[in-house]
Amino acid sequence: MSQQRHILVTGGAGYIGSHMTLALLAAGERPLVIDDLSAGLRSAVPAEVPFFLGDFGNADFVGEIMDRYPVEAVIHFAASVVVPDSVANPLAYYANNTVNARTLIECVVRHAIPHFVFSSTAAVYGEPEVTPVVEDQATDPINPYGRSKLMVEWMLADVAKAHPLSYAALRYFNVAGADPQGRAGQSSPNATHLIKIAVQAALGKRAGMEVYGTDYPTADGSCIRDYVHVSDLAQAHLDALNYLRGGGPSLTCNLGDATGYSVLEVIDVVKRVSGVDFDVRLKPRRAGDPATLVASNQRARTMLGWTPRYGDLETIVRHALAWERGL
Ligand code: UDP
Repeated sequence: MSQQRHILVTGGAGYIGSHMTLALLAAGERPLVIDDLSAGLRSAVPAEVPFFLGDFGNADFVGEIMDRYPVEAVIHFAASVVVPDSVANPLAYYANNTVNARTLIECVVRHAIPHFVFSSTAAVYGEPEVTPVVEDQATDPINPYGRSKLMVEWMLADVAKAHPLSYAALRYFNVAGADPQGRAGQSSPNATHLIKIAVQAALGKRAGMEVYGTDYPTADGSCIRDYVHVSDLAQAHLDALNYLRGGGPSLTCNLGDATGYSVLEVIDVVKRVSGVDFDVRLKPRRAGDPATLVASNQRARTMLGWTPRYGDLETIVRHALAWERGL
């Protein structure tokens, strides 16, 4: 029993990472969390989980943790994630998302850690020509965020050929919602993601909201995205971990619900579920946004045995609202 190795979660105090830590504990795993608290909250990490405050791109800091604890896998969430910021400040995105990830992967190789689960993104596809997107479609990111993540996928592919490492690169579509039991959610007051913003508007925490672009080639002119519940996403990482443990070869896999909603449709659902008709202002396009991103999730279902449980947009919005109310 004492031989059970640890799962190191970078960004474990953040939005997705905190749900991951809960899922790991529920599955009887032994998580360790690294977070610099630039976006995460110390209180989001359960007290029984060893917590290390610092930078996942600092080889000495990470190496010391790996010397001290036997680690079976790294699940790497820590990253900069705001598309328009990446357009304004690309070097910061390449430093944090790409260069620091390279250092982390080097630590993994040095410590002969056998598995790595990577938070990649649907942004690696750019403007996909065919929808829903399958993983074999060409990658052609249209913003620095997507490129900063795609380079890590390439590194992992090369490293896994040269060293005994298997990995899962999980391409997230739009992650939203909160823990169904109300233990975790998106806490950052400066979050920029659509459902968080709409829920804040519904609760009067902001004076309405803006829609970035109504002239896209979509039915209502606003962008279409595929919203996946954060707890389903965490479950997919557990499924990926078990797949790699079982000897499954490295894989790249979409994580989405395979259903697209436009920005205006999402806002309608938030208004309906909350019962609040908040102010919505139509604005020009935001930099870096593709028109439509919807996943095929067939690979995750067949290769990982993943079954999303909370895919329905109303459920996602209900959980996001419940969390936001409690903040
Ligand atoms: N969006 C919007 N208003 C907002 C936030 C987002 O219209 O206040 C739009 C954004 O332009 C994009 C979609 O909602 O078309 C999803 O954006 P988000 O930032 O949530 O995720 P992304 O797809 O960029 O990762």
